[in-house]
Amino acid sequence: MSSVLSFKIAARDAAARRGLLSTPHGVVETPAFLPVGTQGAVKGLLHRDLHEVGASIILANTYHLYLRPGDDLIARLGGLHRFIGWEGPIVTDSGGYQAFSLSAKRTVREEGITFHSHLDGSLHDLTPEKAVEIQTRLGSDLAAVLDECLAYPASGADARVSMARTLRWAARARRAFLSRPADAINPGQAQFGVVQGGVFPDLRRESAEATVAIGFEGYAIGGLSVGEPPDVMYEMIDVTAERLPEGRPRHLMGAGTPRDLVEAVSRGMDLFDCVLPTRNARNGQLFTSEGRLNIKNARYAEDPQPADPACTCYTCGHFSRAYLRHLFMAGEIAAASLNTLHNLHFYLDTMRRIREAISLGSLETLRQAVRQAYSPRSLDS
Ligand SMILES: [Zn+2]
Repeated sequence: MSSVLSFKIAARDAAARRGLLSTPHGVVETPAFLPVGTQGAVKGLLHRDLHEVGASIILANTYHLYLRPGDDLIARLGGLHRFIGWEGPIVTDSGGYQAFSLSAKRTVREEGITFHSHLDGSLHDLTPEKAVEIQTRLGSDLAAVLDECLAYPASGADARVSMARTLRWAARARRAFLSRPADAINPGQAQFGVVQGGVFPDLRRESAEATVAIGFEGYAIGGLSVGEPPDVMYEMIDVTAERLPEGRPRHLMGAGTPRDLVEAVSRGMDLFDCVLPTRNARNGQLFTSEGRLNIKNARYAEDPQPADPACTCYTCGHFSRAYLRHLFMAGEIAAASLNTLHNLHFYLDTMRRIREAISLGSLETLRQAVRQAYSPRSLDS
């Protein structure tokens, strides 16, 4: 079966690309940020809020949906889009990252990952083939291959073993993907290969070239934003992106800060997903045009200004820092919703500005402004 994914580059600014990604569930303007809907919902928000902040594509976690409510149940109810009531494009990860990070007991063998559920301790096998089967039942628009997620820091020898295994898994995943049943829920689903290699440029190059040789509809960079310094991450993106085919979309998985987004776009990346704007919102940290703002700080107790005077979101249009701080300190659920709405609006607005800057040839100016706002001395950071 063939994917219907297409990617057209509309404008360039040095290595950055502005494009249109066509999926079975709609067209996405890139570079794009994907809010993370871990269990089929973006924590703290309703889908109508996502539409309001301009989200056109979301990411859901295969590990969580496989364990609960189960991919079989979701398939019986018509697939993930219908089950969660989201008509736009959905990306799913392979489940590997959570199997590594959430399970206290897991083992990696050539066959795949064996792990204990973080919910009830039950034992599960996740193989490259099974990760394809689960995502086929979910019916996402973009599915990721199973990769091994290396802890940071790791030795070069360990990173090489892990990278080579990820390549063998990628080849198995591609074979499984190409032999999906004809009556799959989303026959136009596309598959992304995932480049690994830790923080070692030669391993990243080798992984990129071999993953491209297998041949996927798109490519992701995995295993970054796991604790390495930002400049190391940017270097790994540099050496990887230049080896990925121009005409295919590129996804930086699990990153990042506003600065990471603009730095990665400048290096040729197109898609991003991260829990930072949503998770930090629930902890009272707001991303603003002037840097990070911790709403729980006492200095905001009587501050009548909106969280970000430059922001046009619902939260900033209606409420003061003093009220947002009060809601947070009182443990009101609305605090999580209002903060999340603002942070996602800020992230998606940043992506809109990035896309415009690429068209205008002014991405470097925007990059400097974001770097300044998110320097260690900015606002509350
Ligand atoms: Zn706002």
